[in-house]
Amino acid sequence: MSNEHPEFLWWNGEMRKWDDATVHVTDLGWSTVGAVFEGIRGYWNSDNQELYIFRLAEHLDRLAASTKLVRLALPYSREELTSVIAELVRLNGVQEDAYIRPLAYNANTSGKRFAQIGNESSLLINTHAMPSHLGTELTHTAKISSWMRISDNVMPPRVKNLSNYRNGQLAGFEARLDGYDTAFLLNAQGKVSEAPGACVMLMRDGKLITPDGTSSILESITRDALMILAREVLGVEVIERPVDRTELYLADEVFTCGTAAEITPVVNIDKYEIGTGQIGPVTRELGRVFEDVLRGREERFAHWRTRVESKQLATV
Ligand SMILES: *Cc1c(COP(=O)(O)O)cnc(C)c1O
Repeated sequence: MSNEHPEFLWWNGEMRKWDDATVHVTDLGWSTVGAVFEGIRGYWNSDNQELYIFRLAEHLDRLAASTKLVRLALPYSREELTSVIAELVRLNGVQEDAYIRPLAYNANTSGKRFAQIGNESSLLINTHAMPSHLGTELTHTAKISSWMRISDNVMPPRVKNLSNYRNGQLAGFEARLDGYDTAFLLNAQGKVSEAPGACVMLMRDGKLITPDGTSSILESITRDALMILAREVLGVEVIERPVDRTELYLADEVFTCGTAAEITPVVNIDKYEIGTGQIGPVTRELGRVFEDVLRGREERFAHWRTRVESKQLATV
């Protein structure tokens, strides 16, 4: 495997050499209007020499939901894509924490109107290294963004529709230019929605609270997993409901969560210190439980892991 990219990717039904997978320059443009994607993580367990792909079935079901909402064909079953992804990981000899990204998009859009129904669809799946930050002392500061989160009658926030991401990107730019690490976007009702590419949870009075499914959030698989782990392993009460901005300021603990974010503690919001300004005890404990699940160091949630034995191919 080269340092910059893996040797293979999967594109429209075939494993291809990375360097051979090219599109014509005129395909730039409308191809991304209507494109949807998935972000999936694989966690390497060096003791077992196995990669564990986290909740692959749920990610592939969401890919199907995303393509359905933007009226894009996805002519592959969950089973086909499961074996394609396992094979790609094996072929690339992945032996580290990795990100797996399926991207479905309108193909051959050159010279076509962007509102054309029934455009040809393409599916690309690639992998790259993505080290975990769980167990590190990473913390973020945040601001409430001046950008509002897209709402369900504007764009479908609950799926991974590529065009949605300008919204979070603008909020992220604003936050970093203003000296913060990330942002929280409020929705059209003025309630807390999420951070760019990550959901939000807060601890207050011993309860874990997270914006509900109609708060213009993405239907996050990590959020779902953490609600289950908090309830079933930590015995913490979990409440899904609309959340006010000042509840964030007064919370004992706040963190963002998602495939990329994993669990990222937020210790300061709009210059309000959250709790003690340190990583909170529930955030820390949930992080430990979550990491054991991801790395296959427990059996109770083994059904969330797709195991791939990945051997480094001997170089000739
Ligand atoms: C992917 C994503 C999340 C997190 O979802 P997971 O399924 O946990 O990865 C949250 N918000 C947005 C906008 C996302 O794209």
